[in-house]
Amino acid sequence: MHKHTSIQQHPAFTFPSVQRICSLALSIVVPVYNEDESLPPLHRRLTQVLETAPLAYRNSYEIIFVDDGSRDSSFDVCAKIQQSDPRVRVVQFRRNFGKTAALNAGFAIARGGRIITIDADMQEDPGDMFKLLEQIDQGYDLVSAWRKQRNDPLSKTLPSRVFNAVVSQMTGVHLHDFNCGFKAYTCEVVEDVQLYGEMHRFIPVLATQRGFRVTEVPVAHQPRRFGKSKFGFKRLGRGYLDFIQVLFLTSYLRRPLRLFGSIGTILTVVGTLICVYLAVLWFQGYRPIGDRPLLTLGVLLMITGLQFISTGLIGEMLQYNNYKPGDEYAVRQILETTPE
Ligand code: UDP
Ligand code: MG
Repeated sequence: MHKHTSIQQHPAFTFPSVQRICSLALSIVVPVYNEDESLPPLHRRLTQVLETAPLAYRNSYEIIFVDDGSRDSSFDVCAKIQQSDPRVRVVQFRRNFGKTAALNAGFAIARGGRIITIDADMQEDPGDMFKLLEQIDQGYDLVSAWRKQRNDPLSKTLPSRVFNAVVSQMTGVHLHDFNCGFKAYTCEVVEDVQLYGEMHRFIPVLATQRGFRVTEVPVAHQPRRFGKSKFGFKRLGRGYLDFIQVLFLTSYLRRPLRLFGSIGTILTVVGTLICVYLAVLWFQGYRPIGDRPLLTLGVLLMITGLQFISTGLIGEMLQYNNYKPGDEYAVRQILETTPE
């Protein structure tokens, strides 16, 4: 069976980051928002694929549909599927909370040692999940699908290309397709990585930062058959802010003073030099200096510089008060001999 099936089965190998007991081999998590037409064919394809899966998965999987406050009949369809298939679990949100929240809810109740997330729209073939799982067998913790030949309108693929190039460049996590909803995880990743807001696009970045091994596998991609895409141009603006947040979280979260302090120091020093220069002129008799734009600049730089430094100090104070040792490191395993 799967190596993380249950912590209790391996008394000598504990996974300190995994609080959960994984009683199944595989959990499939599907975020659902207005996808009623796609759900029956998706469920049919998933079961078909899993019926022919390696034995370990075939007898030990669950499918979790998270209905993210759909306005169509998605929930009823999920409920009906659940009635006919005891391996299906359905979570219904009270309203639409977004894809990240839906994934989080699925992760929270997933019982599988490995977890697959897949979009409900059938644009990726569930049959490709074994390609992803194979990489987990190879020792990776997170495997992301790469839609190498993407069948989406240009208005989606173009921004996506830019997004992927920028994120890959800035974070050093070199994936071609961060935003693909089709991914495989070990339960440790899911337990460790903290998602909020619209962070689902950055799971590979956050996981890498926590020391997990991340890779990608090319998969086939179909045009959307039913329903509409939920993410349009609006996500670009928000994605940009999320990106700044992720850069900050993965680099300077622990040491805010390093970021704000260094910017602040540079500004203050430049401002001070300008003011000293003006003071020298004043003493030499080149008066008045009060009407010089340079004076405004110097004073402005000093004030903003000091504000940056104090922002950094406040950040350090928050960090100090919220200190949790587990945030500062991620343990893969502990080897010890426990007395019988
Ligand atoms: N989704 C969700 N909540 C939302 C928006 C989307 O659960 O608020 C789900 C949606 O049902 C689908 C997946 O997230 O299963 C990806 O959405 P979509 O296919 O519209 O995104 P795209 O592939 O077009 O980027
Ligand atoms: Mg899609």
